[in-house]
Amino acid sequence: MSKKEIILGIDLGTTTSEACIYISKSKLKMIHNDDNDDIIASVVGFDDLDKAIVFGEEAEDTKHPIFEVKREMGKNVKLTLGDTKVTPEVVSAEILKYIKKYSEESLGEKISRAVITVPAIFNIKQKEATMKAGEMAGFKVARIITEPTAAALAYCLENTEKEEFVKVMVYDLGGGTFDVSIGEFNNGVLQILGGDGDNQLGGGDFDRLLCDYICDDFQKQHGIDLRDDIKTSIKVLKKAKKAKETLSTRKKVLIKEGFMAVKNGKTISLDMELTRETFEDMISEKLESTREAIQKALKGAKLKADDIDMVLLVGGSTRIPLVKEIVKDEMGQKPRSDIDPDRAVSMGAAIQGAIITGACDAVIMDIVNFSFGISAVVDISGQDVPGYYSVIIPENSPMLKEFSKKYYAVRDNQEEVMLEVYQSNKKESFFAADQSLLKEYKLKGIPPAPAGKESVTVKFFYNLNGTMDVTAIIDSTGKEAKLT
Ligand code: ADP
Ligand code: MG
Repeated sequence: MSKKEIILGIDLGTTTSEACIYISKSKLKMIHNDDNDDIIASVVGFDDLDKAIVFGEEAEDTKHPIFEVKREMGKNVKLTLGDTKVTPEVVSAEILKYIKKYSEESLGEKISRAVITVPAIFNIKQKEATMKAGEMAGFKVARIITEPTAAALAYCLENTEKEEFVKVMVYDLGGGTFDVSIGEFNNGVLQILGGDGDNQLGGGDFDRLLCDYICDDFQKQHGIDLRDDIKTSIKVLKKAKKAKETLSTRKKVLIKEGFMAVKNGKTISLDMELTRETFEDMISEKLESTREAIQKALKGAKLKADDIDMVLLVGGSTRIPLVKEIVKDEMGQKPRSDIDPDRAVSMGAAIQGAIITGACDAVIMDIVNFSFGISAVVDISGQDVPGYYSVIIPENSPMLKEFSKKYYAVRDNQEEVMLEVYQSNKKESFFAADQSLLKEYKLKGIPPAPAGKESVTVKFFYNLNGTMDVTAIIDSTGKEAKLT
């Protein structure tokens, strides 16, 4: 049995990154690294002892860890990695190289292609920088897709066959950024209609708020400010992050650490009980501010909350129960969070990869929004009508499929034919003149013969990159002309 090539789906996130592959419509596989983690911190560092680049938590302990490199993508800046200055693309490429390496190890095979996701608001430069990073990492980048599109793909996999348009809102609250995107999802493509967000809001803010709360409390009790020592404050911040995550599933948490400081020759430990309520009070103001972004995004899309068919939660921070409540309240419907919010984007990227290889065939990924055809002479009730718009690719056809039609010589000894390629103007007209002319080409060399004997086959093939290959073949001689 021939095995389909695997395209790796990668969510190259600001704070965390994930990789996933498609196995079947009911099975996607998250890829784990050596430490058995499938969510890795997007942190890169240089280990002075081993003289090696390290990642994730290991990188956090190095002298100059690089955090949140994604924010720098597409900018003309240099970052310090070990003894060298490098571009943001190089740092992102290192993360991608690492992902490639552990994915290949985990799967036991080489992976050459990847689909990488980017925020909906990334401009061309930022997308190009991401593409470049992928290539530097040794991938052929099969496609760059936006994070909300990927999320919508992950959620809509089960009903992608439906030819309907679904209005989707994707609420993405990650570690350092917040995005709301509203779009219309159809046939695997999310057409963004509006969006808003705050690129300075995320889980990291909640960690810092909780860290301050813990430190203030400790200071009140023991008169020592834990923030005075950098190492200690990092320790508290990590504790805070963990406690925050626990509070998403538990009502209260114990924050404990045996040794925190020394006072009068005695060691003092950290021992604190925190309820979800107290924590949510701390962050409620920040979360409330996301309501405005939702409204702005709706306004941009010229839609009302009621118009939205599906609200999707992505980003690790949407696991916080208060987030779900606020979104539900603002949208008047229960948001969907049944797919892991921190894995959904990489899953969608994997699905996109499977659509490209054809492993996932239930989804018609991209459709052609227009019809395409040529100008031809047709016989209408015994009369030859020239300039007729003869459709070769009908509107809403899937891309990456070849369409062809045969045309016969209309005159005796016709030696050439003018091939005029048109794109429909969505006007209700049968005439080529009412469509948009894309290209014309004179095909010569038709052997002399009586009218109706010689034929030319015209093939249209619409590529994913939005170009179309046109081939015309003189059937009797096999002479071929190609144009794009
Ligand atoms: P990004 O897209 O910004 O790279 P993610 O979507 O992976 O990041 O979100 C990471 C953030 O989600 C971190 O701040 C992390 O602490 C937070 N997070 C992860 N799990 C939980 C949880 N169970 N409860 C609350 N926050 C969580
Ligand atoms: Mg994310």
